Parts: sequence; C-alpha cells; structure tokens
Amino acid sequence: MISVQSLTKRYGDFTAVDGISFDVAPGEVLGLVGPNGAGKTTTLRCLAGIIAPSTGAVLLGGYDLQQSPVDAKRTLAFIPDEPHLFDYLTVEEHLRFIARVYGVADVEQRIGPVLEELELADKRRSLPDELSRGMKQKLAIACGLLHEPKTLVLDEPLTGLDPGGMRRMRATIAARARAGTAVVLSSHLLTLVEELCTKIFVIRRGRCVAYGSLAQIVESHPELVGRSLEDVFLALTGEGESAP
Ligand code: ATP
Repeated sequence: MISVQSLTKRYGDFTAVDGISFDVAPGEVLGLVGPNGAGKTTTLRCLAGIIAPSTGAVLLGGYDLQQSPVDAKRTLAFIPDEPHLFDYLTVEEHLRFIARVYGVADVEQRIGPVLEELELADKRRSLPDELSRGMKQKLAIACGLLHEPKTLVLDEPLTGLDPGGMRRMRATIAARARAGTAVVLSSHLLTLVEELCTKIFVIRRGRCVAYGSLAQIVESHPELVGRSLEDVFLALTGEGESAP
C-alpha cells in the first residue's frame, strides 16, 4: 500500500507540489502523468524518501516514511530514470550488495532468476562501464526487484530499453502488480500508462487535475467520452488542442 496525504514540496519560495493525495492498494498500478515541470519527479523523490516533504505524509506498506524511514524503505524499490550504479561492483556484486542491505536470505536462489528475467545472465561479471545504457537500466531494475518489494516506484521505466526490453519490462511490472505489489509509475508514454495503469493521477503545476480510472476521469468530463488518453491528457493539462 502506498498512501500520499496532502503532500506539499517547496523549493525556497517555489511550490513544486501542492497538497496532493492518492492511495495505491496492493495490485494497483497508478500512473502519474503531467507536462514537463508538473512535479512528477519531485513527487516520486518524496515517495522514495530522497527528499523530505515540506508538509504532508507518505506511507509505504503502512509505515510513515518520516517516522519509520527504515521500515518504510524496506518495503520499497525506487527505480529512477537515470540508473545510479557503483563503478567498481560487477552486475552480480550489485545484487549481492543489495541482498545484504535488504537482508535477503535466499540470495543464491534469487540472483539467477532475476538475471534471467532482465537478460543479464551473461553479463554477471561485467562492470557498469562495460554495459550498454539499456543494460545499466536493467541492472537498476534487477537491484530493485531482488528483495521482492511490496511497493514499487518507477520514473520513466522504459527509458533506454529496446522494443523487446520494453515489452518484457511491461510484463514484469504487470506481473509484480498481479503478485500484490502497489506500483506508482511516471511516464510520458501514454500508451504504457493506458496499458498498465488501473488509476491515473494527472498533475499540473503541482496540483491534481484528475485522479481515478480512465473511465472515471472521462465520466466526469463528458466532452472527452470516446477520446484517446492522449486527447484526455492534452485537454486536462491545457497543453494543446486535442486532435480532430
Ligand atoms: P519532467 O516531465 O520535465 O521531468 P517533472 O514533472 O518531473 O518534469 P519536477 O522535476 O518535479 O517536474 O519539477 C517540478 C518543478 O520544480 C519545476 O518547475 C522544477 O524547475 C522545480 N524543481 C525541481 N527540482 C528543484 C530543485 N532542486 N530546486 C528548485 N526547483 C526545483
């Protein structure tokens, strides 16, 4: 379960995220969408505990991120759009390190399947410098999934992946949700959002402009019935005229 309650984040005088709230139950996938600068990454970084909210609360797996940060983060995998890796650890050493940090007991049983799932089995002894950009992204994802997180937060999860990798990544996210993980993902790829997300949160200038399933959002905007998610997005965010 992921719960965001009246989250506000200010940078100095500037309010990047302004009192937003949403809940993601186990098995749900929430798509956070909005134009450039809307506040998506700021929200995700607050969710991951990288930056502290100015006001409001984030609960991960039932734990308040401010009050019980270790318990809350133990439930979480955060996969940023730019993978952060250790220059001097091989692929396999990354996974062993993460396993130790998260106290994963059956690491030997898990490493093989995770490397197979992310197609990194033949790179297990490679350093990050020896990996392509997409492979680095896959390694970051493998590190995130190794401890079987109950809450999963992804920023542009398909960046850098080839078409086959994108398809498998979509399947991986869907499988994790089916297994009961609460997922929040942010992406400008509206086809990905439409395919995977059970709920959509549209953010603009730090504020919520729509929240619910696509059907619920369209229901409250009758003029958008029958339009694509792209048309709905453009209409709600005032980013441009919808296509005829
Ligand atoms: P994009 O789709 O372009 O990635 P985003 O929705 O992820 O955008 P954020 O990165 O959350 O947007 O930024 C929201 C706003 O907060 C922007 O106006 C940005 O300039 C501002 N901002 C982000 N980080 C900081 C910071 N560290 N200091 C000051 N302002 C910031």
